[in-house]
Amino acid sequence: MTVLNGKGVLDGIAIGKIVFYQRKGQEAVKRHVENTEEELRRYQDAKEQEAADLKKLYEKALHEAGEKSAKIFEIHQMILEDIDFCDAITDTIKSERVNAEYAVKKACDTYIQTISAIDDPYLKERAADIRDISQKLIGILTNSESDTFTSEEPVIIAADDLTPSETVQLDKSKILAFITINGSVNSHTAILARSMNIPAVVAVGEELGLKYNGNNAIVDGASGRIYIAPDAETVRLFSERREAKKAEQEQLHSLKGKKSVTMDGKEINIYANIGRPEDVEAVLRNDAEGIGLFRSEFLYLGRETYPTEEEQFQAYRSVAENMQGKQVIIRTLDIGADKQADYFEMPKEANPAMGCRAIRICLTRQDIFKTQLRALYRASAFGNIAIMFPMIISVGEVRAIKQIIHAVQLELSGEGAAYNPETKLGIMVETPAAALISDELAKEVDFFSIGTNDLTQYTLAIDRQNPSLEHFYDAHHKAVLTLIRITAENAHKNGIFVGICGELGADLSLTETFLRMGIDELSVSAPCVLPLRKKVMETRMDR
Ligand code: PEP
Ligand code: MG
Repeated sequence: MTVLNGKGVLDGIAIGKIVFYQRKGQEAVKRHVENTEEELRRYQDAKEQEAADLKKLYEKALHEAGEKSAKIFEIHQMILEDIDFCDAITDTIKSERVNAEYAVKKACDTYIQTISAIDDPYLKERAADIRDISQKLIGILTNSESDTFTSEEPVIIAADDLTPSETVQLDKSKILAFITINGSVNSHTAILARSMNIPAVVAVGEELGLKYNGNNAIVDGASGRIYIAPDAETVRLFSERREAKKAEQEQLHSLKGKKSVTMDGKEINIYANIGRPEDVEAVLRNDAEGIGLFRSEFLYLGRETYPTEEEQFQAYRSVAENMQGKQVIIRTLDIGADKQADYFEMPKEANPAMGCRAIRICLTRQDIFKTQLRALYRASAFGNIAIMFPMIISVGEVRAIKQIIHAVQLELSGEGAAYNPETKLGIMVETPAAALISDELAKEVDFFSIGTNDLTQYTLAIDRQNPSLEHFYDAHHKAVLTLIRITAENAHKNGIFVGICGELGADLSLTETFLRMGIDELSVSAPCVLPLRKKVMETRMDR
């Protein structure tokens, strides 16, 4: 038995087989070739294979999602056969005497560059299609087209690291646990693992090698330990612990339907955070009183093109309807930093956490923002939706947002579309700037939600993604707690409600502090709702 140590992300025990996540080889490294005929033939073969794959995908989509959805694969087929695209590839192979995958990459880059210079949303979408086609071709040519893991039974997924978009695409029913070489406990992947209720251990280091692929293991999310090839006694011990944990969970379920109120009568709302419409099931199962943060950017991740207004509308509407009148706070897209979607074609930045992310993208590229706002307002006719904006630093930003909302509302009214004009608008307080001017910001909005993950990152000047700085990353730092207190005071002074939707909301050692500050709502990952309710019910503040 080998024991590896990392950082536990979610308390829980998993026992099963380790399977390494294989990443698509998008490396199309330039190679000089003598035999260009051979490269041309490799390209033709890859093209034929991709054409056959596309045909299968078309038929599957037609069967499962209808003609409209299947159409995309027809378009891909046309691009694959496009004479100019094909000529660009074969000409490069012949004239530069290079390998086929490099020629595909070059043709793709040239096309995208040309298209990007033209301000046309239709062409921009095609750019993503060209990239998709090219990546698949390169995948075939480099024998590395699998971008995921395949397994019949649930397994422990091991990887160097997982991006949020990779995590979101995984089939949850096949995952027992995540274990990663790198990664930090404050990253979005860790947050996703928590909300999916999957035990995870990150930052295990290089000892977590490919040699363990296929080995049986135990993952202990509480201690951050991984037991590889465990002996029978260890398996027995952890199986017992796992059963005890299950029993503990069941006990908590007796708190369902109860109010989250302290022993001396102070009530607080406990909401849940979600990333995808299907997470609502866990929200209801854990009896959250609402959704305090729907990270809408997850609708934009792990795909090749922007989600359409209709797709978004259906997603928001289904969440609002399934929550049956309970409040659903949807955050507009917070793309950027670690949450990247290639088709946004954002320029590379030296310091993305401080770069063009979240509301900065929305205010710069208003077409994207308007599409989302139209979908959100249309969905507001179907439930209790509130909209919130991330990474705010000024009153000017909030006013600019309101102007765009006004234009969107006029458009919808002109079309006779139903929407709720009284939809509550709030902002995330996740920058020290927003906390310090919260008195002014409170006059502009209906609520605040404090994002302690970023608030800690920006207050302490510590990259939340950087595992080597984790022992400096102190979310209990006096400066962070002071900014939270200032924000709560200013919210109440101006008669608006204030919640916390960062991970700190689930920190039971701070529950009493937050109650004393008068925080109105704590929004946590669904599995944390009932433990938090228990903590609130055991708290007394009148002594
Ligand atoms: C936060 O910053 O605390 C937050 C809730 O937003 P995210 O974690 O998605 O950045
Ligand atoms: Mg944030």
